[in-house]
Parts: sequence; structure tokens; C-alpha cells
Amino acid sequence: MLKERALEMKDISLTRRFNAYVQKDAAYALALRTMYFDMATIAPKKGAAYRSQLLSILSGEAFAHATSKSTIALLQKVADQSDDRFAQDQAKAILRDLEKIRFIPKKQYVEFNKLCSDAELEWEQAREEKNFNRFAPYLHRLVEGTKANVKTRQRKECDYDVLLGDYEPNMTQVEYDRFFTVVKEKLVPFLHRLLTEGVKPDTSFLYKVYPVEKQKQFMEILKEALFVDPKSSYLATSAHPFSSSLSKFDNRITVRYLADNVASAIFSLIHEVGHATYNHQVDQAYEGTVFFDNMSMGMHESQSRMMENMLGRNKSFWVNLYPKLVALFPENLSEVSLDQWVAAINAVEPGFIRTEADELTYPLHILLRYEVERGFFDGSVTVDNVEEVWNQKIQDFLGLNVKDSAEGVLQDIHWSSASFGYFPTYALGSAYSAQWMVAMRKDLNVEQLLEEGRMDLIKQWLMEKIHTFGGKRQADELLKEVTGESFNPMHYVDYLIGKYSVLYQLI
Ligand code: ZN
Repeated sequence: MLKERALEMKDISLTRRFNAYVQKDAAYALALRTMYFDMATIAPKKGAAYRSQLLSILSGEAFAHATSKSTIALLQKVADQSDDRFAQDQAKAILRDLEKIRFIPKKQYVEFNKLCSDAELEWEQAREEKNFNRFAPYLHRLVEGTKANVKTRQRKECDYDVLLGDYEPNMTQVEYDRFFTVVKEKLVPFLHRLLTEGVKPDTSFLYKVYPVEKQKQFMEILKEALFVDPKSSYLATSAHPFSSSLSKFDNRITVRYLADNVASAIFSLIHEVGHATYNHQVDQAYEGTVFFDNMSMGMHESQSRMMENMLGRNKSFWVNLYPKLVALFPENLSEVSLDQWVAAINAVEPGFIRTEADELTYPLHILLRYEVERGFFDGSVTVDNVEEVWNQKIQDFLGLNVKDSAEGVLQDIHWSSASFGYFPTYALGSAYSAQWMVAMRKDLNVEQLLEEGRMDLIKQWLMEKIHTFGGKRQADELLKEVTGESFNPMHYVDYLIGKYSVLYQLI
């Protein structure tokens, strides 16, 4: 009896220690996110140096707390021995995440971090000068440093597979190859056909003068249409749109207003609302735990891109909303019909810059990056030929000739922070969302609900089927359960070809 009691006490104290660790970690995360949001939105520029100095002290503290020897020992003990299943699942998830850094010798870790921050500054300079050669030695060292970091984990998979799995569990080159082969074989010829045979929509009215104050008025209308809870969300302005969920009931969203582009802020808002809704609708029991926001990149992006492209660019969504936009900007839109508006916001225009790409050409930008990254890790692409490879692929996929490296290989920040393996999740998210939509359409009449302004019912479906589980359940498991099959890229290409065939009058 006494022994049993002693074991029970031990277990209670283990769970208590674990919960205290989790809470402290959540407290650090809340402080850092709040400071980051403040910095990106309202903080005066002159305070930047002092602020970032103290911010780095606090994030160093948070890092030390998360990775100390005693923390790892505690996590390991909970993962191996705890009777508390929920604590055990959390500990395993945290350890999985820490695997990326915990075996790297301190000296190597510090040097690599320094390399990343130097590389980011060099990348900025190189992009400004349109001079890839300036960034090339850093890119080489980033790839080699990443390989060395992966080696410390002693995994049996090859380096790039490990990296792909860090951003999207269960995805390897075999799965991505299957996905991107479909994208390449179906979408590249379809894009060519659309550009040569399709009826091109007029988009000129999107770029007239749209005063920012009036755009802000429309954001309020849009938030209402999207059923954004005013008591648990906050909208601000920043240089780059983003969303940050500080907690379930504290979702911050930012947009950027362009006075000569009415669509920019609208679709940024809808995209970020997609992200914020995901966290807002996570089961409350997960608040403050790792499962509140450790969803995979592909899963999160599937929610934002579904909201932005499949719902937000849907004609039915605009049936009631468009007259309200026209009422705010009659000088620009009174002569533009709903159909013309919908055609313009879905227009396809091959361009060099990924972040400005339309829904159809976007996955081709990602395909290119995937093929280049894969080459970095199998040795077929090096800093000596990467520009040539990049430019050739842009020509093959989009039919464009790159003029300089700023609009080519230097355009993205990702590689300067060694985020290899991240890009593919952007396209994967869109593909997941096409598959979710197929399942949603079996339960709901999506177009009718959109026309009736019932986004709340669509969000409720998303909550019950996807959001409530947070990061507790992985994409492959949820896809099988909700859609009845594993990831199937055909839904995505079928969706895109179907949608654009109608819009460009190809059928
Ligand atoms: Zn996003």
C-alpha cells in the first residue's frame, strides 16, 4: 500500500512539474508574441534598437527554459512513464519539435544562428543590388550548415526528407514528387491553353484610386460577412500582412492598404481570417498547450487558402457583398458588373514574383522552388548553376524570361534563414483545401450558404471536422477521416482546371 501511494504521489508531482513547465512556456510565448505584434504594428521606429536588445534577452530566456537539461529530462520522463495520457502526448510532441536543435553542439548552434542573421542582411543587400554573387557564398554555407545540423539527429531518412517532415509530418520526396508531377503535367499545359485560347478579363478597374479610409470601412463590412468575433479579434496595419493568435480568444490580424489596388487588402484580410479562425476554433482544452498551435504548415495554409480562394473569390460570396463595395466606390465600380468583378479578382497573369501570383500560377512557383531545393540536397543544384536552373524553369513553367536576380532567385527571404523544406507546404495547403472542399460539399450547399451570408455555418463545419483538434491530429489522419481518402492531388488540379475553364470560357 505504502509503495503504491508513494508511486501515485510521484506521478502527481511529475504531472505537476510538467504542467508548470507548459504554463511557463505559454507565458513566454504570450509575452514574445505580444511584443512582436506591437513591434510590427504600432511601436515607434526610434525605440527599435533598445526594444530588439531586450527582446533578444527574453527570447534567449524562453529558449533556455525550453531546452535546458532538466527540461529535456522532465519531458523524457513524462513521455516514457507518465500515466497521464494527455501530458504524455504533449511531451512527445514537444520532444519531436526539439529534436531539430537539441543534439546540435552549442558552438555549432551559435555559429549557425550567426550565419543566418548575417545571411539575411547579405540577402537584402544582394537583392537590392540585383547581384546573386554577393549572396552565393552564404547560400552555400547555409545548405552545408543545414546538412550538418540534420546529421546530429541520426535519422535514417535523407537530409531533405527530414527537413520536409519538419514542416509537414509524413511528407517526403516520394509524396511530394507524386504531387508535383500531377501539378506539372496538368497545370503547365492548361496554363498555356488558357493564355492562348481563353477570354482575358479586364482588371484595370482594380487599380484605380481607392482611398485607404474607405477601404478600412469596407474591412468592417468584410469582417462581419466572415463572422469575425469582434470581442476576440483585433485588426491592425503592418508592412506585411500576418496573423498571430495570442490565445483562443485573442486573434490579431494585420493587413496593408494600397491606395491603387483595392483587392490587395481585401484578400489579405480573408486569408489571415482563415488562419485566425483555425486557432480561434481549437478545442478550449488545448489552450496553453502545444496542441493549440502546432498544426503543420500545410494544414494551416489549407485553412487560409480555402477562405481566401475557394470561399472568398467565389462569386456567391460576393452576391451580397459586392453592392456594398460599389456603394463605397461608385466612381470606380458603378459600371462594373458582379461577373466582371469576379472575373477580375480571379484573373491569371504569369509573373516573376511568387507572393503576387494568382491562384493558378502560384503552385508553379512552388514547384520550381521544390525542384531547386531538392537539387541542393542531392547535389545536382549548387550556387554555381542555381540561377541558370531557376531561370530555365521560369521559362518552362510560366514562359517568362528573368531579367535580373531580384525578380528571380533572390526574391524570397526563406533560404537566407535556412528554411529549406518550407516552400512545398504552401502548395500543399492549397491542395489540401481542395480536398476539404470536396468533403464539405457533401454535407453543405456551399454556394447557397455563401449567397445567404451564412459563413458561420461553413465555419462551424470547419470547427467540427478540422479546427477543434488543433495540432493533436495530423493531416493524413484527418484527411482520411473527413474526406475518406489519403491526400489526393487530383482534387486540386481538377478544381483549378474546372474553375478556370469556366472563367476563361474554355468549355
Ligand atoms: Zn498564410
